[in-house]
Formats: sequence, structure tokens, C-alpha cells
Amino acid sequence: MKLFDLEGRVAIVTGGNAGIGLGLAEGLAQAGAKVMICGRRAEANSAAVARLKATGAEIAALEVDVTSLDDLHRMFDITRAELGPVDILVNNAGIHRGSPPESFPLEDWQAVMNTNLNQVVNCCQLAFEDLADAADRGFNGKIINIGSMYSLFGSPNSIAYAASKGGIVQLTKSLAAAWAQHSINVNAILPGWIETEMTAPIGEMPEMLSQIHSRTPFKRMGSIEEMAGAAVFLAAAASDFVTGISLPVDGGYSIG
Ligand code: NDP
Repeated sequence: MKLFDLEGRVAIVTGGNAGIGLGLAEGLAQAGAKVMICGRRAEANSAAVARLKATGAEIAALEVDVTSLDDLHRMFDITRAELGPVDILVNNAGIHRGSPPESFPLEDWQAVMNTNLNQVVNCCQLAFEDLADAADRGFNGKIINIGSMYSLFGSPNSIAYAASKGGIVQLTKSLAAAWAQHSINVNAILPGWIETEMTAPIGEMPEMLSQIHSRTPFKRMGSIEEMAGAAVFLAAAASDFVTGISLPVDGGYSIG
């Protein structure tokens, strides 16, 4: 299936050491990509590398805080040196902070916007030259941004999270429009409710869990493995004429 073959491509997955990012990284590795995963926790990085090595793909990890521009420069420099020029950038690292809007702490607002949106712009800019040069290597450069159901819906106690994830959709469309001339595809995945560390507290909230299940046509939360297919599609030649979209992978949650 050449359309979905990522053999020889180099991918960076921010926040690839756990949760959805790990599911995305595993999908890209299974399709043949060399993957650099990045996160702040060294132990989580090592565990993820051990798991992904089972795919047989070349995997490496870096301790990176995506809110540090110095770290991002280091991430791109080391990835280029160890794996080669970047063909696929997956902007997945994200955090959530919740408080009522009238008392939402400014430092939480800034932390969420820096982690979920501002650094995505930095990563896209730092990746641009490699992605544009991918055409000379015989394929399109690919950016995959990770949004959320809150890219589509408001959330009373998560104003920063919803604003950051809404921003991901518009950033994706804008970069897609700008960079198609360089044969770069820019798309987003909007995960529904997926079982990860971020959503683990919901396990202790039976009412919320039951609301999620009843609104989701598949009547359950998703797994990180179920994120991989969309990532492989959006990273591969199969999606070369697809750009600017935000693809829900949500068991139907966003149907309404
Ligand atoms: P997790 O909390 O399970 O994982 C978050 C990942 O991001 C970790 O790998 C973490 O690594 C990394 N990360 C967080 N902050 C930073 C930072 N400053 N620098 C580098 N890495 C960072 O979250 P999920 O897997 O659930 O979420 C992943 C993405 O998917 C996020 O963007 C989230 O908003 C989005 N999402 C999740 C949904 C869900 O239901 N789970 C639904 C919709 C969207 P480390 O701590 O080592 O830095």
C-alpha cells in the first residue's frame, strides 16, 4: 500500500511519550516512519521508545519542554542530525486547566495558550524549510495539529483550553492556505474522549462518564490505538490533496 507507506520519512511527535501522542507515534512507526518523540519526562520517554522499538522502526526521544524556544531549536537540530530532515510534524503536546471563567487564573491561561497553541506556531515555523524541501525528496511535507472536541464546542470551565483548541483549527486552515504552494499539507485531528492520563480523572466522575457514553454513538471512550489510522492517512501520500481539514476521531461525539 504505497499510498500509506511512510518508509524513510522522518516524523516529530511532540508529547509522543504518552497518551494520544504515543498512539500517533506508534501508527507512524508501524507505517515505516523514523520517529522522534518529545516530552519533558525522561522516564516516560524511555518507556515509549522501548514500546515503539517493537514496530521495528527507528525511534529516538528527547527531553523537550515545548514552551521553551531553545528546546524547540534543539529538538529540530538533533532530529535532523540523528534521523534526517523532518517530513512530518505532529503537534500533539497539550495540557488542560479548569476553573470558572470569572476567576480563571492568568497564569493558567498563559500556560495553556503557550503549550497548546503558541508553541505550535513556533514548531511549524521551525519545520517549514524541511517540509518545503520534502518536495525535492519526492513527497509532500505534512503537519498534523491536534485539536479537540473543544475546537468545536465551548466549555464553561475550560476557557483557555477551548480557546487554544479553537485556535488550532483556524491556524491549521491559515497555514494550509499559505503553504500549499510549497506542497505542504496542514491538517488537524480532533480527538473525541480518549482514555489517557489527561482524562483519567473522569473515571472517578460517574455522571460525566455516563454523559460522554450516552452522547457518543459508539457508547464508549476511544483508545490511543484508535488515533493511529487518521495520523497515518494525514502523514502519507494518501492525503496529498487534503489540506486545511479538522478530522474528528470521536466515535461520533461531534455529530450532535
Ligand atoms: P496526556 O496528558 O496523556 O499526555 C500529554 C502529552 O503531552 C505527554 O506526552 C506530555 O509529556 C506532553 N506534554 C505536555 N506538556 C508538555 C510540554 N510543555 N512540553 C513537552 N511535552 C509536553 O494527554 P492526552 O494524550 O490526553 O492529550 C494529547 C493531546 O490530545 C493534547 O493536545 C490534548 O489536548 C488532546 N486531546 C486529548 C483528548 C483526550 O480525550 N484525551 C481529547 C481531545 C484532545 P511530558 O509530561 O513528559 O512533557
